[in-house]
Amino acid sequence: MISVVGIGPSREDMTLRALKTIEEADVVIGYKKYVNQIQDLIDDKEVLTKGMGQELMRAELAVQKSREGKKVALISSGDPGVFGMANVLFPVLGKYEDIKVEVIPGVSAVNFASSLLGAPLHDFAVISLSDLLTPLSEIKCKIKKACEADLVIAFYNPLSKTRKKPFQEALKILKEYKKLSTPLGLVKGGKDGTKVKVSSLEKLQQEEVDMSTIIIVGNSMSYVDDGWIITPRGYMVPYTTHPLALEFYEKYLSGEGVEGPNLSCEYYPCHSHPQNCTFCYCPFYPCGDQSTGGHWIKEKGVWSCEGCEWIHRDETAECIQAKLPSIIQNTDDLKKKKKELLKLRRECILNSEC
Ligand code: SF4
Repeated sequence: MISVVGIGPSREDMTLRALKTIEEADVVIGYKKYVNQIQDLIDDKEVLTKGMGQELMRAELAVQKSREGKKVALISSGDPGVFGMANVLFPVLGKYEDIKVEVIPGVSAVNFASSLLGAPLHDFAVISLSDLLTPLSEIKCKIKKACEADLVIAFYNPLSKTRKKPFQEALKILKEYKKLSTPLGLVKGGKDGTKVKVSSLEKLQQEEVDMSTIIIVGNSMSYVDDGWIITPRGYMVPYTTHPLALEFYEKYLSGEGVEGPNLSCEYYPCHSHPQNCTFCYCPFYPCGDQSTGGHWIKEKGVWSCEGCEWIHRDETAECIQAKLPSIIQNTDDLKKKKKELLKLRRECILNSEC
């Protein structure tokens, strides 16, 4: 039996299943650096290490030892299925018959990095910038498609001493497609421990990135709060509709609402001139999502829309008006159809109709 074991990013992050599998193995095969990570578990075992670039040799060795009737633990850092040993072993197995194999998942570097940055992942792509086996044209194409789909993107292997072009090309594409203010996190492993940095696309410097850095670049809704990167999923926040909002929507639904700038309002412009006042009371309140500029007044637990100019843009009002009548027919729907409303909000922010 060959068990391809994901040992995660560090000894502390191994799963119980991975621990048990290694404990029960007769032979442990892996890259020396990763095997050192589990030294305390393998003192009594046959240990075979091979260097970087000798992945196929490790896989063949695992097959050979398995055919001798040994229980083999083929070690992979992170998760074996995310740029790990599973993808090396399975094509090799095509040459042989009756080799039993199992894959023991581990905490991948992208999950580990994400946990240190907060909650940056929603729908996301994981792309390796190593062009050792993949042509640069393919890497660039994947980055462009991920940007077009507004995915959060996690980059593995961004840079080495001799391989800088893929990183430079990736940065060019990201800056072309994403806002320069897009939040970005860097998580770098090393002898001195793990370093974490929250930054933005605009500030990203080649010098702060190396082979062991994982870069996570947010999507157009990602924001930074208190040093954490957050990509919201759109959950509903409990709330009570303000009586003035109910009054506003009674009028709106009966066709008496004001469209465009309300110059007769004593508070105009409550944001900046010119502003569209069609949705003076936001149908999504309280969205609980800081990506458009709202925030919690922490001491009161109240959602403030003061910093949200998005709702007062012409294109936003147009997008909402096109769909709102199909969602709310009376003021009760502001609450009953909140999920639909929050989906409309995302649609209008992301302009996601393909
Ligand atoms: S005005 Fe902006 S911040 Fe306030 S609820 Fe609406 S979308 Fe959210």
